[in-house]
Amino acid sequence: MKPPAFEYLAPASLDEAVAALADDEAKVLAGGQSLVPMLNFRLLAPSLLVDINRIPGLDYIEDNGAGGLRVGALTRHYSLETSELVLQRFPILNAAMRYVAHLAIRNRGTIGGSLCHGDPAAELPGLMLLLDAKMKTTQRTIAAADFYQGALETALADDEILTEIQLPALADETGWGFEEFARRSGDFALTAVGATVGEGAARIVVIGAHDTPLRLTAAEALFPDIDAVVAAAQAEVSPNDDLHASADYRRHLVGVLTRRALAAAI
Ligand SMILES: Cc1cc2nc3c(=O)[nH]c(=O)nc-3n(C[C@H](O)[C@H](O)[C@H](O)COP(=O)(O)OP(=O)(O)OC[C@H]3O[C@@H](n4cnc5c(N)ncnc54)[C@H](O)[C@@H]3O)c2cc1C
Repeated sequence: MKPPAFEYLAPASLDEAVAALADDEAKVLAGGQSLVPMLNFRLLAPSLLVDINRIPGLDYIEDNGAGGLRVGALTRHYSLETSELVLQRFPILNAAMRYVAHLAIRNRGTIGGSLCHGDPAAELPGLMLLLDAKMKTTQRTIAAADFYQGALETALADDEILTEIQLPALADETGWGFEEFARRSGDFALTAVGATVGEGAARIVVIGAHDTPLRLTAAEALFPDIDAVVAAAQAEVSPNDDLHASADYRRHLVGVLTRRALAAAI
């Protein structure tokens, strides 16, 4: 199907883009890899697309001077996947990017688009929660923990643009594991689990098994008793049934993948 008709604007500045979003029916266009399929399926019918690709200064991966990174919202998935800085500072991010879709999609898709789309089965939203990221927007800075409010629902206002993702340094010697199960390479995860272990504590995030990416705080508190962590992880998620997998199967995957991700992190 073709998308419904829309007006198109490619502003040259963030101020101009924000002003255009005052139109209630306007939507930001970044890589278009989620938005355009939704238009084609007629799940959305915005009257105006505000293309942010020509706004300078939104595509970068920079050292924050304190062991972490600052990432511009228009940074493509492929840049995250191939960045030396990402590999040195956040190898889990680098490894997980290979599970995101296919190369052609990773060439266009942006970190900001993935985070703002907020698919509960997408890798980047879960990783931002795991890595305690902050989202800088045209209005404020939001902790990843406060960013997701439901499936495809974020804390962003209609006229708010995500501009930068801030990743704080990991503690020295933090180990990590990222485990995903999908039906085919490049498909969205049926379930995935990311974990870090450092300074005697674990952080665990599950994607694809809840309405939002979910940090498993009750399970984390039982670390290092792995059997107890796994049982608590399975109790903490509320997976859905859909045509790809039953809720029970997803809960089973949460157990298996949590155990594997923790083993890798340890
Ligand atoms: C076949 C296929 C398979 C895929 N598989 C996966 C997968 O396995 N894992 C995965 O994570 N993703 C997957 N994706 C999605 C892909 O990663 C998208 O690139 C990503 O979700 C959206 O990024 P985008 O830049 O294309 O955003 P767009 O499609 O342009 O926008 C997505 C949404 O975010 C909003 N938005 C975009 N940027 C901003 C911003 N800076 N500020 C405010 N709002 C903004 C838009 O208005 C829109 O609502 C897949 C896509 C396809 C087509």
